[in-house]
Amino acid sequence: MGAPSLVWLRLDLRLEDHAALSAAVVRGDGVIFLFVFPPKEDQAWLGGAAPRWWLHHSLAELAASIAKRGGQLILRRGDAAEQVAQVARQCDADTVYCHRIIDRDEESRLSRVRAALEDAGMRLRVFAPNLLATPEAVMNRAGGPFKVFTPFHNAARQVHVAGPIPAPARLGGPGKAMTSLSLEDLELLPRHNWAGGLGARWTPGEAGARRRLEAFLDGPVARYPEDRDVPGVEGTARISPHLHFGEVGARTLFHEAVRRTEASRKGGALQGGEAWLRQLYWREFAHHLLFHFPRLVEEPMRVEFAAFPWRDDAGLLEAWQRGRTGYPMVDAGMRELWHTGWMHNRVRMIAASFLVKHLLQPWQAGAAWFMDTLVDADLANNTLGWQWTAGCGPDAAPYFRVFNPSLQGMRFDPDGIYVRRWVPELSGLDAKQIHAPGGPPPGSDYPSPLVEHAGARQRALLAYAKVRGNKTI
Ligand SMILES: Cc1cc2nc3c(=O)[nH]c(=O)nc-3n(C[C@H](O)[C@H](O)[C@H](O)COP(=O)(O)OP(=O)(O)OC[C@H]3O[C@@H](n4cnc5c(N)ncnc54)[C@H](O)[C@@H]3O)c2cc1C
Repeated sequence: MGAPSLVWLRLDLRLEDHAALSAAVVRGDGVIFLFVFPPKEDQAWLGGAAPRWWLHHSLAELAASIAKRGGQLILRRGDAAEQVAQVARQCDADTVYCHRIIDRDEESRLSRVRAALEDAGMRLRVFAPNLLATPEAVMNRAGGPFKVFTPFHNAARQVHVAGPIPAPARLGGPGKAMTSLSLEDLELLPRHNWAGGLGARWTPGEAGARRRLEAFLDGPVARYPEDRDVPGVEGTARISPHLHFGEVGARTLFHEAVRRTEASRKGGALQGGEAWLRQLYWREFAHHLLFHFPRLVEEPMRVEFAAFPWRDDAGLLEAWQRGRTGYPMVDAGMRELWHTGWMHNRVRMIAASFLVKHLLQPWQAGAAWFMDTLVDADLANNTLGWQWTAGCGPDAAPYFRVFNPSLQGMRFDPDGIYVRRWVPELSGLDAKQIHAPGGPPPGSDYPSPLVEHAGARQRALLAYAKVRGNKTI
């Protein structure tokens, strides 16, 4: 038997449509899997407590699937270059296979891993990230990156999306027993168990991802254009954490959606597949932007916003984080986030807008809270979402368009179903009263509004006027 191959897992925690794994399996000399939990200085791509909870369960599920097929998943902590090279040496691998991820440090991270392997006479083979098209494959006519979604989308749709590769039936063992940390050694679960709501809502792992996809394409996709903005209805796929951790390939989502779309078109019934595919391209756009403008995580794309007069206030930030702003739609969203690790997209926009415009808190503070509490915390999507909402990003909502959270509630939660679910203090109010920021109903401890809408809007516009006119990149 020749040298085995090492598959270095990252945001690709699946066996199906795994190009790196398939290339390793073709070699036929056994495959070993490795996941390296990074040190503190390299954890930005991983996010905080909620995504770590997810990662724990996803790794557990994947380890079981690998073992069932005769393979082994090795867990390590530490610097990627050191750990990958060390494990590769220990198992006598001659080649390491991985998919790249997209963040500011990826190029230097991969160069260090490659150098460490080459020093020991081994090779690194790097495959495309979990996208429909690589960020380099979609460029504008001048050969530069896109900054506006629609032309990006038009160009990206021209790029052929290859069909997914089936999971290998057998993996072949490492040949010799390899030592590994236990999953508990990675300390991914919270010390105090606040994650009960996450466990009740989600099933991390490849099988859970597949079930979500099937359930969505079997039903809600047909009404996606109407229901996707209504947080009281389960009208979206809720597949973002599975997709973020690579438990399902983007190409699988694309081809399944197209297949069903075409099948239902024949019966004349299809409505939503195309609208849903468009959202997958928003994810592509976010990754395209982060790849070409890696500093976007910290810095606004529109440079004039670097001088925005934010009013850092820990008390206001905390009231927002805890869902105690006195605006029912904002509070419902922030509590949904805290209890389930997820928030509906429409409500993400309302809650984020409220923080940056009504409360004048820096978007980076909101983005950091989302990276800690969302199970789908994703550097690219989160950064684009916040910069878009704050009006400082590429193709952003204009800053002067300040969402009125009460009107947004009346429009997108007209019967108050969503607010009643997450803000029990208001459950006795009827549909008309529930979105009005009228303060606490008698006998409840629901807070009065932190700010009054019209005044806060005016203040936001004045702050914006101060930075307007500065140059944009
Ligand atoms: C302030 C803010 C922060 C956000 N942070 C994140 C984040 O950390 N991680 C994350 O995955 N998404 C983020 N989003 C985008 C979006 O809210 C979620 O992707 C979506 O709610 C996930 O639910 P779903 O799977 O049901 O989506 P669906 O509507 O079923 O869409 C399918 C998939 O398309 C992608 N998608 C949908 N909408 C968007 C969008 N606007 N931008 C980019 N991709 C999109 C997602 O991968 C999603 O899973 C953020 C949006 C905002 C406004």
